[in-house]
Amino acid sequence: MNERKTMTEPDCLFCKIVNCDIPSEKVYEDATTYAFKDINPKAKVHVLVVPREHYRNVDELARNDAQLLAHIVEVAQRIADQDYDGSYRLIFNTGEHAGQTVFHVHAHVLTGEPLEE
Ligand code: 5GP
Repeated sequence: MNERKTMTEPDCLFCKIVNCDIPSEKVYEDATTYAFKDINPKAKVHVLVVPREHYRNVDELARNDAQLLAHIVEVAQRIADQDYDGSYRLIFNTGEHAGQTVFHVHAHVLTGEPLEE
C-alpha cells in the first residue's frame, strides 16, 4: 500500500521549513507534524499544519497514511482550542487550479475570530 518512501524533497519549501533550513514562526510540533504561522495570514490566526514527511497533497496523504491525516485534524483542533473557542476553518487546497502553490500537503487552519460564511 505504502509504496512511497520519500521523507524529504530537497527543493520543497515546507520540507525546508520543517527541517529549520528556512525560519518560520512555529506554533506547535510533535514527532509527525509541524505547525507554523502563514506568512500572508487570511484570518487573525492562520496556521499551516504539515506532516514532517513529504506528501504532495491531501489525497496522497490520505491514501498512504490516513492516521496521520486524522492527526493533522487533531492538531488543528488543538490550535483552535488554544487560540480561540474551538471554532476553526480547515482548508486543503489540492491542485494548482484550486490554488495550491506549495506541493507539500498543508492544512490551512483559520481561527482566532468569527469568520465570514
Ligand atoms: P497554498 O496556496 O499552497 O494552499 O498555500 C500555501 C501557503 O503558504 C500560502 O498561504 C502562503 O502564504 C504560505 N507561504 C508561502 N511561502 C511561505 C513561507 O516562506 N513561510 C510561511 N510561513 N508561509 C508561506
